[in-house]
Amino acid sequence: MPKIPENAALVIDRLMENGYEAYIVGGCVRDSLLGLKVSDFDITTSARPEKVMELFEKTVPTGIKHGTVTVIVENEPIEVTTFRTEGIYKDSRHPENVEFVGELKEDLSRRDFTVNSIAYNEKTGIIDPFGGVKDLENKILRAVGNPKKRFEEDALRILRLFRFASQLEFEIEENTLNSALELKNGLENISRERIFTELQKSVNGKNQKALLPLIHSGALEFLRITGEPDLAVNSDNPDLRLWGLLRSSDNPVLVLKNLKASNRQIAFAENFINLSGLEINTKEDIKNALFLTDEQTVRAFFEYYKKDTAKLNEIIKNNEPYRISHLAVTGEDLQKLGFVGKEIGERLEALRKEVVKDPQKNEKVTLLRLTK
Ligand code: ATP
Ligand code: MG
Repeated sequence: MPKIPENAALVIDRLMENGYEAYIVGGCVRDSLLGLKVSDFDITTSARPEKVMELFEKTVPTGIKHGTVTVIVENEPIEVTTFRTEGIYKDSRHPENVEFVGELKEDLSRRDFTVNSIAYNEKTGIIDPFGGVKDLENKILRAVGNPKKRFEEDALRILRLFRFASQLEFEIEENTLNSALELKNGLENISRERIFTELQKSVNGKNQKALLPLIHSGALEFLRITGEPDLAVNSDNPDLRLWGLLRSSDNPVLVLKNLKASNRQIAFAENFINLSGLEINTKEDIKNALFLTDEQTVRAFFEYYKKDTAKLNEIIKNNEPYRISHLAVTGEDLQKLGFVGKEIGERLEALRKEVVKDPQKNEKVTLLRLTK
């Protein structure tokens, strides 16, 4: 049985004392039953949002249009959503309006997969009208209701399907899988940010390979995610895992920009591509790679190509110089010697190359002698 933590239990109790139904629902029930760590407990209730706001001192109307009020208990935010169905969908996107309903079962029926449609409270126990518990036991993802209809209503569910398959290492039930692939074009209507969130969660899941049927179906071609991705990147570095997904695209940087990736993520891909054509074997090669990009990228590159990091570690540990800022002389020193303008930069770059070859030379007297 799921264990409801104190603050969430308090919210449920208060709602029930006032004559309403209230349950934990969705991801938190699923993950509790799987024995996974749960961070957010979502509550579903028969109470209308106005009532929820009346019953608790601290509330924030975070999604009032969709019936969601965040109740704050001892600084912990707990999302409380009124039983609802989703109204008419337009363009496989957000429902135009939601309708509050009186019954838990109706609320559960609007949810995406059977394993996400289980409710629980201590009084009633598990409520599972769609067989989610059995699917959890068999590690199966299955749409609630008619899968085609469900993916037509909201194409984000297609990505959520593959994301959960990756995160939970579940199989996808055949009809659900076929329907998702058949309706893949609906993805073009989903916001790039939401797509990117799901893709990131997918590549960071335990079984990224679960994404393969989706990619092979061409579903992500409209994002230029094509070819044979590398979904076997077993790394703690999310940028590297993402790289595996994008590596077979004709333009990974453009893909990331279109997905509204962060500047950091885009810079990582640019740097990684810069290293890709290079032979990086000797210490000099490694220092040039460090100079061209940064330590984080070079480490990721070594990890990706399973290269021995001994030389790289040595360079970092000994603080071996490879940037102009690492030199034992500065532009000012060269100015004092009478160099001016562009010359200074050129000399410093020449010295940088010298010390990359031989770090011993990185001493002020030696470098000044070399410049003269
Ligand atoms: P996690 O939080 O681990 O990503 P989750 O299942 O909790 O997974 P949320 O996005 O937090 O996912 O959504 C909470 C619940 O709301 C889901 O378990 C599901 O019941 C329902 N839900 C979320 N998104 C959709 C959707 N697009 N279509 C139908 N139901 C959804
Ligand atoms: Mg959740």
